[in-house]
Amino acid sequence: MQYLSTRGYATSSDSSVSFSEILLGGLAPDGGLYLPKSYPQVTADELNIWRTLSYADLAFEVLRKFATDIPESDLKAITTKTYTAEVYKNARQDESAQAITPLRTLQEKDGTKLVLQALSNGPTLAFKDMAMQLLGNLFEYALAKNHSELNIFGATSGDTGSAAEYAMRGKKGIRVFMLSPHKKMSAFQTAQMFSLQDPNIINIAVNGVFDDCQDMVKAVSNDLEFKQRQKIGTVNSINWARVVAQVVYYFRGYLSATSSNDQKVSFTVPSGNFGNICAGHIARMMGLPIAQLVVATNENDVLDEFFRTGVYRVRKSAETYHTTSPSMDISKASNFERFVYDLLGGDSARVAALFKKVETEGGFDLSGRPGSDGDEFKKIAEFGFVSGKSIHADRLQTIRQVEQAYGVTVDTHTADGIKVAREHLQAGVTMIVLETALPAKFNETIREALGRDAERPAGFENIESLPQRFEVMDADVAKMKALITSHTGL
Ligand SMILES: *Cc1c(COP(=O)(O)O)cnc(C)c1O
Repeated sequence: MQYLSTRGYATSSDSSVSFSEILLGGLAPDGGLYLPKSYPQVTADELNIWRTLSYADLAFEVLRKFATDIPESDLKAITTKTYTAEVYKNARQDESAQAITPLRTLQEKDGTKLVLQALSNGPTLAFKDMAMQLLGNLFEYALAKNHSELNIFGATSGDTGSAAEYAMRGKKGIRVFMLSPHKKMSAFQTAQMFSLQDPNIINIAVNGVFDDCQDMVKAVSNDLEFKQRQKIGTVNSINWARVVAQVVYYFRGYLSATSSNDQKVSFTVPSGNFGNICAGHIARMMGLPIAQLVVATNENDVLDEFFRTGVYRVRKSAETYHTTSPSMDISKASNFERFVYDLLGGDSARVAALFKKVETEGGFDLSGRPGSDGDEFKKIAEFGFVSGKSIHADRLQTIRQVEQAYGVTVDTHTADGIKVAREHLQAGVTMIVLETALPAKFNETIREALGRDAERPAGFENIESLPQRFEVMDADVAKMKALITSHTGL
């Protein structure tokens, strides 16, 4: 399996980039995102065999199609070590930790089911653990093989940072520099990250919003000389291995919700940077029978606007709202370029031009109207995409209703998903809503909705009172580089 960049790098048949080569990196040298040269296909026979596999073995089967340059026995050891009931032990009392991503049916009416798929039973109680735990083990494996080291430089609005830190803490040869917007994460999220005392974890609270953090990661990554000398890698959601790891649970969800391959399901995905649902798109391109991929956004509705109108218009920092589903508070969706590449039929020159335009003019228009940049909006339905938006009042109402009707407390992001999923139910098609976090992470809003605290899994009882370790900095690239250098000595 060879990889290319959405903007054209390594497109020709004689150039080759392997899975291991992009594992530790972020953007391609031309500023694009990596994708496989073609999507591996899954046959009906394979799907049938996969129905009975454990999550770890299913992960191995999916990954071996993409990571063809890692010996299979090594890959199998890595997936076996990653997807265990021990790591995903925060399953609710009536769920099986062994299932890793257990399903729970909420409503069932006229043959149409609304189902939650729990992706947040890992160490940091959010779906990012699903990919990050694998990444930690893949990184450790690759670095040990090359006798090398890695400095992860990432940005988080909450969940990526803690997932990365819990996946990398104490790992040999790895340091994590994690930027987060100062005072904009929930108290629980802040405590999860800042209470880590491992010397290889460096927390940096930036005066600004998440996008200021993300822009600094981009600026540092674009300085190729610095990046190389400091052995900088990334774990933000553009990392290809993370996307692939997420493909696995779409297969698991489908196979668990159906009994034969002629049944279809839809997925609703609480979305921000488009990483999670991009994995659903890839699963669908591989042949998984997915009817619809429903993008659910919060007040930061840049994706909902695109999927309704064909206009992609990124927001300025001042237009980016700080909401009660903060992990979806984005102004632009960093993985979106991968989907646009497929939507444009792999025309990397056009992709490059459109995303240049995002930088210079703040967006592009594929609506097909006179003067627009193309008419591909009309092809979106072929890819199964639809969308919707949920705001604070919807979130509260959904949390209350789900609690009352089904006795399940959902977090704010999942509530956004459920609200939008209900707008897209189709007769006879099971709708799976991805549960992206447990409610304990967003207790402030659970209190507001339910007048009581969210339940906390064992071990998290007093997390806010633990001592915290972090530095506060301005969004200044030069200062950031100096900080990295002072830690690495490189
Ligand atoms: C990261 C995150 C999202 C958004 O996922 P993307 O891959 O950025 O679209 C949604 N919900 C939660 C809880 C998250 O942590």
